Order: sequence, then C-alpha cells, then structure tokens
Amino acid sequence: MSFDEFSGAQGQAGAVEKHPRARGRGLTLEPHVCRSCFGRIASEPDQGGERRYFCTSCGLEAIGSKPSVVCSCGIKLRKAKGDGRTSVTLVDAGVRCHPNKQVSPEFPALFVASYGGAQAEGA
Ligand SMILES: [Zn+2]
Ligand SMILES: [Zn+2]
Repeated sequence: MSFDEFSGAQGQAGAVEKHPRARGRGLTLEPHVCRSCFGRIASEPDQGGERRYFCTSCGLEAIGSKPSVVCSCGIKLRKAKGDGRTSVTLVDAGVRCHPNKQVSPEFPALFVASYGGAQAEGA
C-alpha cells in the first residue's frame, strides 16, 4: 500500500522555499534565465519528486532536479576533436546565470547569463 506516500506528498513542501514571495501555488522563481530566450525561469514541484522548471517567457520546460535542465547554465557545446571534426561528446559551454549588476532602462532584466558569469566579476 503506497497511498500514504502519495497523498502525503502534497501536504508537505519538502524543499525549503527560498522565495517566500512566490509561495501560494508552490511556484518558485529561480535566479536563472532561459537558454532559449533569456526569460526568467520558475519552478514548481513535480509529482515524481523532482521539479518542473519552465520559462515564464517562452514556455520552454523540462523536469529535473536543477534549473540547468532549461536555463543557460546547462548550455553544452560539442567538443572538438584533434582532427577538426566534432565529436558527440558534449562539454559545458561555461555559460552561467547570475544577477544583472547593470540593470538599466535598456536592459532591465534582473538575471542574465554570460560566459563564466563574467559580468558578476564587476565591470
Ligand atoms: Zn524562454
Ligand atoms: Zn542557470
């Protein structure tokens, strides 16, 4: 009998809510941006014990344990071989999401992605 486990999952949140403001529907805004459109990523608990991460802008979504299933941190590149051909090996592209330190009228996004999170190093 596993009914208890199943019904219990809805009652308790399990993970600690990092963003109290986003409470209500169990929705959490993640400090990550979409790898497709750089929109803000949000997540909510999934039935399988993982989370459903989705873009609040274009709707790209995936189930996983980390925002990188849809955010820019998960961008992968094909690793180049010595002979110049591309292999099937995927390597981390080095792109990371981070808070936008230079919020401006032209670029008002609160979170952005850049190579190695370079912008965060202070410019
Ligand atoms: Zn998007
Ligand atoms: Zn990210």
